[in-house]
Amino acid sequence: MPTVREFLEKIKFDGPVSYGELLSGRTTFRIGGPAEALVEPGSRESLAALLSAARAEGLPVFILGGGANLLVGDGGIRGLVVALKGLAGIRRSEEGLWADAGAAVTDLVEAAAEAGLSGLEFAAGLPGSVGGAAYMNARCYEREFADVVVRIDYLDPGGTFGRLSPDRGEWAYKRTPFMPGGRLSGSVVLGAGFRLVPGDRAAIRARMRELEADRAAKGHFDFPCAGSVFKNDRRFGRPTGKILDELGFRGRRLGTAAVSEKHANIFVNPGGATAADMRALIDLARRDARERFGYELEPEVVIVGEP
Ligand SMILES: Cc1cc2nc3c(=O)[nH]c(=O)nc-3n(C[C@H](O)[C@H](O)[C@H](O)COP(=O)(O)OP(=O)(O)OC[C@H]3O[C@@H](n4cnc5c(N)ncnc54)[C@H](O)[C@@H]3O)c2cc1C
Repeated sequence: MPTVREFLEKIKFDGPVSYGELLSGRTTFRIGGPAEALVEPGSRESLAALLSAARAEGLPVFILGGGANLLVGDGGIRGLVVALKGLAGIRRSEEGLWADAGAAVTDLVEAAAEAGLSGLEFAAGLPGSVGGAAYMNARCYEREFADVVVRIDYLDPGGTFGRLSPDRGEWAYKRTPFMPGGRLSGSVVLGAGFRLVPGDRAAIRARMRELEADRAAKGHFDFPCAGSVFKNDRRFGRPTGKILDELGFRGRRLGTAAVSEKHANIFVNPGGATAADMRALIDLARRDARERFGYELEPEVVIVGEP
């Protein structure tokens, strides 16, 4: 197998490339070791060519969105980290708006407000990219992406372009066919179309400001974090944050990692946290929930890379 550098030279990749860039600079946790190579394709075609060549060589590929739901290991990520920032267009469509995967959700929400289109206010202040939100079926304030997405373009692992409409059989709470085990696992989301309705600009903006203020009051932006660390589970009868509170996790510290003082399901990096300590804190929470209540907490944060 060629080195990643040899590979990128051989295929004459035409976008920005960096070697050994620390992923702590690309994640909202501000944690993560180096990417062996970080590449930013500027078009669908360039992305497709890159992925099919990487597949032919057996090179591992990791797709990086906004880095808002990631815990990257201190040893970084081997192979190619493909950032989609170069694919970030937002435009009007028949149903409302279309956004490329690399567009920031906050830019999409702002564009909807600017166009006087209602339906995306619930996502105001949600960190991350459109592709990441589609991959995760991001959910907030009782609404989720699948409620407003009408179309998703993707590239499957075999290099074929595809298009789908979210269907309720496959899309559920924090579950989509793009996730591990799903029908389209390994595919890359290229962009999404949103069904929006005309609304009053001032009312749209007022709702956005209200939700942004609520996030700030809940401490979302006090320290680097990745939002909720664990999923909720109806079977537990109460939110995971409440369970972790009962277990005494609010404000807890383990080495360099900590739990928010305001929300026990938000783990934070108070400065200089390592992935190893964050993982140990996650493991401790899972162990305590299992031993005390018999609950299996499922991480929402995607844990990747080398320890
Ligand atoms: C302060 C804060 C508050 C948050 N609040 C919420 C909340 O209220 N609700 C909520 O649901 N989440 C919340 N989150 C988590 C995060 O915002 C969402 O999970 C977001 O959708 C992640 O998107 P991303 O682009 O950052 O994905 P990343 O973190 O970059 O990646 C997450 C996963 O998606 C995959 N991925 C990313 N882009 C693509 C693509 N184009 N194609 C295929 N796979 C892709 C990655 O490979 C990875 O497996 C919060 C995070 C923070 C920091």
